[in-house]
Amino acid sequence: MAPSPIQLAIVGAAGRMGSSLLENAAGRDDLQISHAIVRTERSATGELGPEKLQPTDDIAAVGRADVAIDFSAPEAFLDAAKHCADAGVPLVSGTTGLSEVQWREIDDLSSEVPIFYAANYSVGINILAHLVERAASGFGDGVDIEIFEAHHRHKVDAPSGTAKLLGRAAAEGRSLNLEDSATWARHGHTGPRGDDEIGFQVLRGGDIVGEHTTYFCADGERLELTHRATDRGIFARGALRAARWLYGRPPGRYNMSDVLFDE
Ligand code: NAD
Repeated sequence: MAPSPIQLAIVGAAGRMGSSLLENAAGRDDLQISHAIVRTERSATGELGPEKLQPTDDIAAVGRADVAIDFSAPEAFLDAAKHCADAGVPLVSGTTGLSEVQWREIDDLSSEVPIFYAANYSVGINILAHLVERAASGFGDGVDIEIFEAHHRHKVDAPSGTAKLLGRAAAEGRSLNLEDSATWARHGHTGPRGDDEIGFQVLRGGDIVGEHTTYFCADGERLELTHRATDRGIFARGALRAARWLYGRPPGRYNMSDVLFDE
């Protein structure tokens, strides 16, 4: 049985997502933020969030919470995962841009502690991923699949983790491997499009929270499946829901499908 309230440590508490987590957790009686972890004390100007939390730059503090939530940077995610594994504290992360080597380390650590990861915590995107897989499978070989994403000017990785998530869903529907089929960018004399290509397009600008469209272009018809995020609160609320769900689970890797379709 979960203690009431579940104590959460937030890694990246001074960032855009960290701030949204602090706002969305404020006033709840099922969970409470006990540790607001920032990169350096200087990166947080005084107390954080509506509950005026005192930040710490000690990432080992994740080990003193019931569940840790990380929205920071790849190195910090990995660092938090190691501390969580040492202390047996479940970890929820949404940090994007990890290398394959870093993902292997995360996989290894998930044999010691539950690690929940979603490239996108919105309910809508996770339903979209299922629809994309179904559509790719339904169209079969005769369709060209392209994925467009748009984000704010501050985003540092491309294409977005969500675009890759949708790419993997499309590849699965077509029984392809995304790494073999992905065309990450096009420029110059590219030659004609390959039948099994899954193409990616990226836009960066302004304050766009996140837009993703998967195009299914067939001869004589085109299907476009679009999701638009207008408030990053959807990601924070999804991550808080994941944290509650993860508390008390055995070690392993978990994702939003586990919460949405098996809850
Ligand atoms: P941001 O730059 O606003 O915030 C990141 C914060 O992490 C910064 O305050 C930074 O100082 C902090 N940080 C970096 N290293 C740290 C460390 N060692 N210890 C503590 N804090 C550290 O970025 P953001 O928009 O909040 O996004 C953060 C991450 O979450 C990115 O990877 C982004 O792509 C991802 N993201 C995922 C989802 C999702 O649903 N999965 C949604 C939005 C953003």
